Amino acid sequence: SGRWVKAMEILKEFEEKCGTPIPKLKQVADAMIVEMHAGLASEGGSKLKMLISYVDHLPTGREKGLFYALDLGGTNFRMLRVQLGGKGRGIVNQQFEEVSIPPSLMTGSSDALFDYIAAELAKFVAQEGSDFKQSPGRQRELGFTFSFPVMQSSIASGTLLRWTKGFSIDDMVGQDVVAELAKAMERQGIDMRIAALVNDTVGTLAGGRYNNKILGTGSNAAYVERAHAIPKWHGLLPKSGEMVINMEWGNFRSSHLPLPDYDHALDTESLNPGEQIYEKVIAGMYLGEIVRRVLCRMTEEAAFFGDTVPPKLKEPFILGTPIMSAMHQDTSPDLKVVASNLKDILEISNTSLKMRKVIVELCNIVATRGARLSAAGLLGILKKMGRDTIKGGEKQKTVIAMDGGLYEHYTEYRECLENTLNELIGEEVSRTIEIEHSNDGSGIGAALLAASHSQYL
Ligand code: ADP
Ligand code: MG
Repeated sequence: SGRWVKAMEILKEFEEKCGTPIPKLKQVADAMIVEMHAGLASEGGSKLKMLISYVDHLPTGREKGLFYALDLGGTNFRMLRVQLGGKGRGIVNQQFEEVSIPPSLMTGSSDALFDYIAAELAKFVAQEGSDFKQSPGRQRELGFTFSFPVMQSSIASGTLLRWTKGFSIDDMVGQDVVAELAKAMERQGIDMRIAALVNDTVGTLAGGRYNNKILGTGSNAAYVERAHAIPKWHGLLPKSGEMVINMEWGNFRSSHLPLPDYDHALDTESLNPGEQIYEKVIAGMYLGEIVRRVLCRMTEEAAFFGDTVPPKLKEPFILGTPIMSAMHQDTSPDLKVVASNLKDILEISNTSLKMRKVIVELCNIVATRGARLSAAGLLGILKKMGRDTIKGGEKQKTVIAMDGGLYEHYTEYRECLENTLNELIGEEVSRTIEIEHSNDGSGIGAALLAASHSQYL
């Protein structure tokens, strides 16, 4: 029928506008490198903040003792304690707990958010069992993973530049996040020193030891830069000669990014319009929402789901990326996972197999674009580090540590990202590069960094 034809036209047009052929991805990678240089040259020189993390040496494996970490991501926060055994013994014991953040606290006041977190932390600390050992007379120490852009002034202080993802707490911007957490911990009577403030991507890097990248609710990357290649760094050159850079790559944008109208509308209606454009195309918080927007258009202009637009389909963010990935990965012959999600989440029943196939195709377009564009960003970092070629037969290995629920659970996305990166760098170089999923790397990394910045060293 005419409606079906029209709906397919909308889908086709969207697909064409989301195209990411290899030459385009290489342009994105090169644009990323240009921005990396600009962001390292001067403060505010680029959309990429290229933040100095004050981490100039990564954990060595000799760290010893009991350490805590608090990982505040996009939707949850995780608390963990780890017992580090010292040289050669690694993590001898660990325990963690995850708590979701009530949405009202994401847009409330700073005190409310931190009081909630500190209260949960107090409970967690109170449950410390005798299988964890703290040397007598020592204060407990914590690594604080905070995955929002922070301008650090030392390893354990830094002011919030702005919120991203679903957060917007105005009175926090410009404040020292460590001081805010410390005050809240004091209000809860927790005797613990915050030894390190780290971005989650830096934590993952510390946990994974090499260079890393994160795909969860938002997206970010960190890597190890040569200190003398950071013109804006005016401090003493670290002994290691290196400095971990938190790129804040989510804020990357480029005319080479394929962005149809749907993305512009999503951006305009977001909590942070004009910002985090790359993140809004590749990260977990947004992929399902893009799918919803296209479906909405197909329904409004081509009656895809019949004459009336199902009311649930109009609710922003109702279609989460976990649902999208479940539908995308539906292997049943009649696509019953798609059918049941449409029914349960969007209250749409009586869909035909043909319609459900279209929805799977739509998920595929959105996931493929996101995964391929993240691979292009990784290519940019590898090129900047000189790891995109093999030098004089030297077998140098590069490990990319990936953290985040998106990479962990969305198989199609993960495989597409890996295949695209291999395609971009070629077979020979791809044998020197290993992508490893770092389970809870951002939290463990923060605990390791707390250990390597302990007051007792
Ligand atoms: P955070 O970003 O808070 O650190 P995670 O790293 O756990 O949290 O990432 C959570 C994100 O991972 C969610 O926003 C969601 O988009 C994505 N995600 C979680 N589970 C799935 C899934 N099964 N399929 C696809 N994406 C998922
Ligand atoms: Mg995280």
